[in-house]
Amino acid sequence: MKRSNQLQRLAIAPDQLQNKQILLTTQQQHYLGNVLRLRQGDHFIAMDGQGQWWLAKLEASQAQILESISVQTELPISLTLMGALPKGHGFDEVVRSCTVLGVTCFAPVISDRTLLNPSPQKQERWRRIAKEAAEQSERSVVPAILEPVSFATAISENTANYRYLCVARGSYPHLKDIINSGAEISDILIAIGPEGGWTESEVEWAIQAGFQPVSLGRRILRAVTAPVVALSLIAATFEK
Ligand code: SAM
Repeated sequence: MKRSNQLQRLAIAPDQLQNKQILLTTQQQHYLGNVLRLRQGDHFIAMDGQGQWWLAKLEASQAQILESISVQTELPISLTLMGALPKGHGFDEVVRSCTVLGVTCFAPVISDRTLLNPSPQKQERWRRIAKEAAEQSERSVVPAILEPVSFATAISENTANYRYLCVARGSYPHLKDIINSGAEISDILIAIGPEGGWTESEVEWAIQAGFQPVSLGRRILRAVTAPVVALSLIAATFEK
């Protein structure tokens, strides 16, 4: 029998699980049978996106749960990326790479210089990308994707206890110099601006709301690269 790290993974919704049976959707049956080429009786890993993995056996339109599997791939902190939406499909790339880096929640925001007006389908697309990236990176949690809101609303509603606003210009401390894995930190939020950057008033509001402005170095990073740099620093600091 294959070892669990050789098995294919499938993210399921928690309500698909009933009495040790997973009720597969038509799309999941197609994916398991026609894309992954699994046959009845083959094993795979089902993950509910909320921290639980199971070894499962495929049976036609259902799968049987055989046993629970313990996974330790999550960072020990909850990590939110608040991203001002970049142009085009830029946020797809952000969701894909930052899911792999351990983000637990994406909060897309519309800032003063955001050029994209996201369609309702975008949020569904980001959810699908997050699910696929969580499967690929063997995470046990699929990050949540919040509805896009204005930056002002997002900063007033967020309650993370450590909040950093990445600002491309100015003489702010480097993120790497102020994050500290020894402190009692459970919740971190990183905010990244759009291609045109944050406006001065946005930086002011964020500071008043308790955000610490930080630098990611002397070079100006792309709006889709800056989250990867910030989250790599956070993941490297808190990884156990
Ligand atoms: N046009 C903006 C400017 O000239 O200030 C640059 C915006 S940058 C392309 C997009 C976002 O990435 C910024 O708003 C910031 O959040 C983040 N960013 C890029 N480079 C950064 C750096 N060196 N330090 C901190 N944040 C950075």
